[in-house]
Amino acid sequence: MRQPLVIANWKMHGKRAFNQALVEAFLGLLEEHRAECVLCPPFAYLGQLAELLRSSDVMLGGQDCSHIAEGAYTGEVSAEMLDDCGCQWVIVGHSERRQYHQESDALVAAKLSMAQRAGLTPVLCVGETQEQRETGEAQDVVKAQLLGALGDLPDLQGLAIAYEPVWAIGTGLTASPEQAQDMHAFIRDVVTGLDATHASGLRLLYGGSVKAGNAAELFAQADIDGALVGGASLDAEAFAAIVCAA
Ligand code: PEP
Repeated sequence: MRQPLVIANWKMHGKRAFNQALVEAFLGLLEEHRAECVLCPPFAYLGQLAELLRSSDVMLGGQDCSHIAEGAYTGEVSAEMLDDCGCQWVIVGHSERRQYHQESDALVAAKLSMAQRAGLTPVLCVGETQEQRETGEAQDVVKAQLLGALGDLPDLQGLAIAYEPVWAIGTGLTASPEQAQDMHAFIRDVVTGLDATHASGLRLLYGGSVKAGNAAELFAQADIDGALVGGASLDAEAFAAIVCAA
């Protein structure tokens, strides 16, 4: 039995006053829930959120980490630093990092291994573009991303995977529950080929315009174990409803 997992990706949004109001409202609205829940604010606010979440069961995560442990790399934040700031999780390979920062599968693999070495649980993001879906390449693209990032790992313990079709991120377009389930089942098949022991326990999250109104039908699918939520995680009521639906 896989425990549901819901992760908020705030992206580059937030200010101290806004963050405090959002987190306090969210914690106040959060009813009894089965899901584990993680908030990933911008790096600048990790310390503030660590304080705000101190007496809750909501965990903290980074939106990215460096592929290098330490050194003269201006602007980089290491996985160990995230751990030191109270993070238990880190997102790696988000499509916005792949698109705007040219992150390759090899770089994502190096980040993933840094995250695991620091004791963090990485959430590997994969997903195809609209054009790749239209030309029938979606599965090939996702498989290449999975093999490129996970191929060298000794096993798949201590990891989650988020399927985020690029065409559904921040667009208001959501994959239908059937489209998402088909890809999740495919991902589970691919990871079974890498590590048959742990694949059935691996949590697969869906991401792409998840809202309070579509979360329950997505979570009802056999291989959808939760969500990675962008826009709706900046709304306390919507995000609390999504966590409670999981
Ligand atoms: C994301 O950024 O990972 C995401 C899924 O965004 P949104 O929910 O806004 O589509």
